[in-house]
Amino acid sequence: MNATWRQRAACRGLDPEIFYPASDEEAEEAKAICASCPVRQLCLEHALAFRERDGVWGGLTERERRRVLRQRRKSA
Ligand code: SF4
Repeated sequence: MNATWRQRAACRGLDPEIFYPASDEEAEEAKAICASCPVRQLCLEHALAFRERDGVWGGLTERERRRVLRQRRKSA
C-alpha cells in the first residue's frame, strides 16, 4: 500500500482515541482535525477502498462512509 499520504496527515502523532469515538456524536473533534487535513480526500478514498470499519477517516464516520458507498453504487 502506498502510505505516503499518511506522512502529511493532520492526525499524525495525535492520540488515536480521538479518531475512534464511541458514537457519531462524539466524532466532532476528529472531524475538525480532518477538515484542515491536506490529505483528507486520499484518506477517505483509502478507507472506502479498504472498507475500513471503525473510526473517522477523511472526516467521515463509519456510518457516513457507508452512505457514500451506497450513493456511489446507485450512481454507478
Ligand atoms: S483526514 Fe483525518 S483521519 Fe485522515 S489523515 Fe487526515 S486527519 Fe487523519
